[in-house]
Amino acid sequence: MTYKIEEYPHLQFGTIYCIGRNYAKHIEEMKSEKTIDPVVFLKPRSSIIRNNEKVILPAISSNVHHEVELVALIGKDTLNVTEDDALQSVLALAVGLDLTARDLQSKAKKAGLPWTLSKGLHSFAPLGNFIDFNERANIDVQNLNISVSVNGDIRQSGNTSGMIFKLAEIISYLSSHFKLNSGDLIFTGTPEGVSQINKGDKIFATLGDNLSTLEVDVD
Ligand code: MG
Repeated sequence: MTYKIEEYPHLQFGTIYCIGRNYAKHIEEMKSEKTIDPVVFLKPRSSIIRNNEKVILPAISSNVHHEVELVALIGKDTLNVTEDDALQSVLALAVGLDLTARDLQSKAKKAGLPWTLSKGLHSFAPLGNFIDFNERANIDVQNLNISVSVNGDIRQSGNTSGMIFKLAEIISYLSSHFKLNSGDLIFTGTPEGVSQINKGDKIFATLGDNLSTLEVDVD
C-alpha cells in the first residue's frame, strides 16, 4: 500500500478520524450510551487497504467485526469551519469498513484504556472507490443507502439519514479541535448489525446504491 490516492494522484492519505456511536440502533446493540459530543478515535493510515486487497485476521483477536461506514475524504485544509460551510471541505465520498477487534475493544473499554489496538490493526480500514462530491455531483450525503454483505448474506443495511451527528456537524466539530488536512479521512459511524468475519469470507460493501463499492476477502 502506498499512501497515494489512486483517484486523486496529487493527494496522499493523511489522518484517519473515526466517529463512534453515531447510529441509535448500533448504540443499543453495543449497550453503549449516547454522547453529547461525537466520540472520536483515530486509525493509522497504514491500516488502509483498497478494493481486492485482503483483510488479514490478526492472531491477537478471535472476534473481528465489520462496521460499514460512509467515509469522507477531505480536500482542503480546514480549521474552525462552520456547519454551513463544512461540506465544502469534502472532496469525495466512499464506502469503508471500520474493522474492529471486538474482544480487544471490550477489554479496553472495561479497563478505561484507548481503543487504538482494536481499531488500527493492519488492513483494518478497507476503502471502496471514491465518488466526487461537489455541487455538480448532486449527492445528498445524508440520504445514502449503505450496506455490507458477507458471502452474499446482508449483514448491515442502513441509510446515512440515521446518523446522529451529520457529516457537516462532524467536520465542524473536528475542525474546532484539530486542523484537518487535505487527504484526511473521516469514518462516520456504523448502523446496527455488526457481526464477526472469518477466514475465507467474501465481503461486499456499498454506498449510495453502488456509487461506491468495496470488495475484499478475509485471509
Ligand atoms: Mg465504527
